[in-house]
Amino acid sequence: MMLDMAQADRERLLAEVLAGRLPDARGRFGPFGGRYVPETLIPALERLEQGIREQLHREDFQAALGSELRTWAGRPTALTHAARLSARWGADIWLKREDLAHTGAHKINNAIGQALLAMRLGAQRIVAETGAGQHGVASAAACARLGLPCTVYMGEVDMERQAPNVGRMRLLGTTVIPVKSGDRTLRAAIDEAIRDWVSDPLNTYYLLGSAIGPHPYPYLVRELQAVIGREARAQMLEQAGALPDAVMACVGGGSNSIGLFHPFVTDSAVDIIGIEAGGRGAGLGENAATLAFGRPGVLHGCYSILLQDAHGQVQETHSISAGLDYSSVGPEHAALLAAGRARYEVASDDEALAAVKECCESEGILPALESAHAIAGAKRWAASHRGGRILVGLSGRGDKDMSTLQQTLIARLDRDPSGATEGRRSPVSS
Ligand SMILES: *Cc1c(COP(=O)(O)O)cnc(C)c1O
Repeated sequence: MMLDMAQADRERLLAEVLAGRLPDARGRFGPFGGRYVPETLIPALERLEQGIREQLHREDFQAALGSELRTWAGRPTALTHAARLSARWGADIWLKREDLAHTGAHKINNAIGQALLAMRLGAQRIVAETGAGQHGVASAAACARLGLPCTVYMGEVDMERQAPNVGRMRLLGTTVIPVKSGDRTLRAAIDEAIRDWVSDPLNTYYLLGSAIGPHPYPYLVRELQAVIGREARAQMLEQAGALPDAVMACVGGGSNSIGLFHPFVTDSAVDIIGIEAGGRGAGLGENAATLAFGRPGVLHGCYSILLQDAHGQVQETHSISAGLDYSSVGPEHAALLAAGRARYEVASDDEALAAVKECCESEGILPALESAHAIAGAKRWAASHRGGRILVGLSGRGDKDMSTLQQTLIARLDRDPSGATEGRRSPVSS
């Protein structure tokens, strides 16, 4: 990342990070975050901010949320010791299993939390955006659960690519509106959802799907996803008897990662490492590795790091995993990087595919392609930290990725069937 920041400013930012004081009262994570929106949106964001202040940490709200998470969404999710990956890679690997959460990923933590909040704030309907469809499905499920009407904006291109998720949302009673403007993918869908929200901000609640957007969304999403890290931290102490040396998660908009990282930020002995989508390489448009290759700028109401060309045009991205395909990143990650509290690396499409196969064969878990980036990162970490202990966020399950896997990994197996058994014990003869 290209960022001009004086050493004294970095040190001040690190002190704020370690004291757990971010965001500040203006919704800033150091220089990042804030609220870059048209005047018409300010009252709605201020109402939301006030609603969060009054409701989110109230005992009765937390009790209602805790009950939904436990009895409907399947929390707490397991912490799994990846014994065979550990033996293969020479480090102790622990997986936080968000793939076991309802609808197959961490996104449900945020969706049910915001839907409950929307009800408390008196909203009559929910609007949401979705790219790959995972946030749309989580929102649709949460709204069905609470009896809230839900409208999801989805780019036309994505609707075609992710047809099964469109069907899921419809079954769950949600109206899916195709977005034909702009790039006809996630970026345009967010614009349309915001437009809908602005037209009736008193009755409509905008359920944003990642730790991005104008204040207070990055804060709200972090607070709702931090359940991942709180559970994982306690589970590590109980099951491993110690905190990990490092925590690692994949970074798209940055919600599963900030949720896992947040409770570890003040544990200064724990390294924090995010893994971005390296795609096909370092060229413009070949990846979605915002923090690795981006520069500061504003997108969707938030000052953060963006993938942009020399003229400041936001770039199209590429990743084999649709969920990591976003040209910006949550402002808290930009701040963690600038402060030196976290570092960010990339894993390529091919590394992610290889990690899917290793995780399947060694652990009996089919990870989402997004999550496979974190597993690939853990493999690299293990090679340079033999005997170390790492906690990896397994953000979701890979069933949704079967058509991509069919065209890649499985097609390769058809050509070379012996590749299937790499790393497996020889069968015991009877
Ligand atoms: C959506 C998604 C992601 C990426 O989103 P974040 O906000 O960066 O967490 C990662 N993993 C899975 C399984 C997803 O569905």
